[in-house]
Amino acid sequence: MALKSWVESANLPGCDFPLENLPYGAFSHGGERRIGIAIGDQALDIRACIEEELLGPLSSEIAEACSASALNALMALGTAAWSALRRQLTSLLGSHAAPETQEKARRHLLPMQSVQMEVPAQVGDYTDFYASIHHATRVGKLFRPDNPLLPNYKYIPIGYHGRASSIVASGTEIRRPSGQVKPASSAEPAFGPSRSLDYELEVGIFVGLGNQIGAPIPIAEAEQHIFGLCLVNDWSARDIQSWEYQPLGPFLAKSFATTISPWVVTLEALAPYRVETPVRTQGDPEPLPYLKERDPSRAGIDVTVEVLLQSEKMREQKVPASLLSRASLRDLYWSVAQLVTHHASNGCNLRPGDLLATGTISGSDEGSEGCLLEMKHRAHALTLPTGETRTFLEDGDEVTLRGYCQGPGLPRIGFGQCVGRIGAAIPS
Ligand code: MN
Repeated sequence: MALKSWVESANLPGCDFPLENLPYGAFSHGGERRIGIAIGDQALDIRACIEEELLGPLSSEIAEACSASALNALMALGTAAWSALRRQLTSLLGSHAAPETQEKARRHLLPMQSVQMEVPAQVGDYTDFYASIHHATRVGKLFRPDNPLLPNYKYIPIGYHGRASSIVASGTEIRRPSGQVKPASSAEPAFGPSRSLDYELEVGIFVGLGNQIGAPIPIAEAEQHIFGLCLVNDWSARDIQSWEYQPLGPFLAKSFATTISPWVVTLEALAPYRVETPVRTQGDPEPLPYLKERDPSRAGIDVTVEVLLQSEKMREQKVPASLLSRASLRDLYWSVAQLVTHHASNGCNLRPGDLLATGTISGSDEGSEGCLLEMKHRAHALTLPTGETRTFLEDGDEVTLRGYCQGPGLPRIGFGQCVGRIGAAIPS
């Protein structure tokens, strides 16, 4: 049933990037930045394929957008253009492509290991939501044991404006931030390196087609504005956060760095994995009309997301990274369409390349907490195979996020990895 590619590595079981996926990214190679797609363990240079007329008939807008060094222009073209390009790429890389076409296209494949993956688009604005009710409940319990969820939670997707300038590609070292902290035991705050550095396991939503300022995006059209999804690690300094967050929310506790995975997986590739949005618990309010999904039976997406950690000691002892948690995008209280529609509901204009993130994705059980902060509820400290324990991240720790969809008779649609290693604080 699975589509075969003449790129052999794309047909291997467990491969994140089979022919059915074809995620977009931007990479540097030989001093030039290009956009490409992932196929097996290779990156295909799209511009080179178009220049050699290997991609069949494409509009001049698409050809021009594909010769850019970031995805913004392609994102701006909208669903018809994205589908047209995807069809051509599928036929180029499929096993039915003519042998001479395969021969020519093969020259535009670059082993992924040989290219430097970049942030795929120029991100103008970055917004982070709080769409996991399990995360919101567990974090809320730390502050309000009897009343963890605030009264607005089930009505309105909560979010804050993040910082776009410090979004970095997977693999970039993350320097431990310094900031103002005030432990409960001290009368006065002090400035210094964060002692409570955390990760947050999230999925990012890249905006494709934008909207005019003043023109909201109806829920039925929201997905036409989504170019695709990636993994996001919203690094968070909890000690800085707890002192600065009232009354205006997170600021320097999160703005120092956000890591994203390099490949953007399209909604077309994710189509086989559409699922019902979580049934709201009895007594939960219906979404207000502007947020009411037209087809709740396929508003969710079943992407499994995981966090792995490897300490410096584990690396020295060649101990593989430990799985810390596993959850699914399907368990969010708000769908990706609801996040887009809510964001634009006041007339705020979204632009191609804007990034919205879901907020920490957690499930209800132990082992599905999407950040270390939530593990405070566990009876025992997190212990690594080396015997080391963790409350928060230490220097040298490497955090890897993974995401994938798989199911019986369906192709695996992988997101690849989102990796960041903690470096010592910048001396102040
Ligand atoms: Mn977050």
